[in-house]
Amino acid sequence: MPELPEVETVRRMMDRHARGRKVRSVVLSGARLREAVPATLPRRVSGRTITAVRRHGKYLLVDLSGGMTLISHLGMSGRWLYYERPPAALPPHLHARIGFADGSSLWFLDPRRFGVLRAVPTRRLKADRALALLGPDPIASPPSGAELLALARGARVSVKNFLLDQRRIAGVGNIYASEILHRAGVDPRRAAGRLIEDEWRAVAAETGRVLGEAIEHMGTTLSTYRTLWNEPGTYAERLRVYDRAGEPCRACGTPIRRIVQGRSTYYCPTCQPARPARGRRVRVSAARDARRARATVASRGRLARRRRARGSAGARANRG
Ligand code: ZN
Repeated sequence: MPELPEVETVRRMMDRHARGRKVRSVVLSGARLREAVPATLPRRVSGRTITAVRRHGKYLLVDLSGGMTLISHLGMSGRWLYYERPPAALPPHLHARIGFADGSSLWFLDPRRFGVLRAVPTRRLKADRALALLGPDPIASPPSGAELLALARGARVSVKNFLLDQRRIAGVGNIYASEILHRAGVDPRRAAGRLIEDEWRAVAAETGRVLGEAIEHMGTTLSTYRTLWNEPGTYAERLRVYDRAGEPCRACGTPIRRIVQGRSTYYCPTCQPARPARGRRVRVSAARDARRARATVASRGRLARRRRARGSAGARANRG
C-alpha cells in the first residue's frame, strides 16, 4: 500500500512532467472507487492548467488554474501513469484518463478500487472532509521528540498503531512504521504513552531519515505500486525488518519476528527489547560510564608514567 514516500515520488514526477499542461478532457470509467468519483469531475477540471502538484500525507493535491484542486489518494493499489503519447490499447482497471491539449495523458489505474478522486475549490481544501482530519506532514513539518512526547501523553495505543494514526502524523503507514521503530530501537508493542522523551527523539529522527531514504529510492514496491513511468520503487531491498520474518536482523543477526497488531508488524526482539527503556538506558549508560572511568584512570596512569620518564620539565610544559 502506497505511503508517503511513494506518493511523494509520484508528486515529484507529476510536478516535473504535468505542471503547465492544459486539461483537454477527462474520461471516467464510472466505477465506484473508495467513494463514487463525482460525475461533475470532468466538467470541473477540463480547460484548466496544472499549476502545482502538492502532497499532504498520502494525499496528492493537483492544483489547477482558476482555483480548483484535484484530490487523489492511491488507496491500496492506485497508480498514476504519464504518457507523452498514450497507448491505443486501454489496460484493465483504468478509472480516469486526463488528456492534455498537447496530446499527452495522465491515467489513473486502481485494481482494488480503494483510491479517491475528486475536485474541490482550492480555498475549501482545509475544510475538506478527508484533509481536515489529517495531522501534520512529517516531511513538510517534522515533529520534534518533545512534540511527539506531548502528543502521546496518556495514549494506551501501541506505539506502532500510534504512528499509523493519520490524525496524529499524516503519511506513515505499515511498512515505514516498522522500519522507523526498528531504527529507533523501540519495541512496537509498547504503549505510546510510556515512551520517554529520548525514545521519541529517536523516533522523530528516524522518521525523517527512513522517509527521506525511501523517497531517494522512489519508494517501496512489494506488489502494485509503480512510479509515474510505471517502474517499481527500489527501497524494498533496503528494508531492515518489514516482510523479513525469520530472516536475520541486519543489525544483530537475530531472526526478525512478525506479529499482528491489527496489521503485520515486524521487529527485532534484540534491537527492540520489550523491557522499559528507562532501566535499560540507565544500565547501558552506567556500564558505559564505568568503562569510561576505567579508561580515564588507565590513561592518567600512562600519562603520569610518561611524564616521569620525560622528567619534570616535560610535566611542567604539559601543564602550561
Ligand atoms: Zn537486531
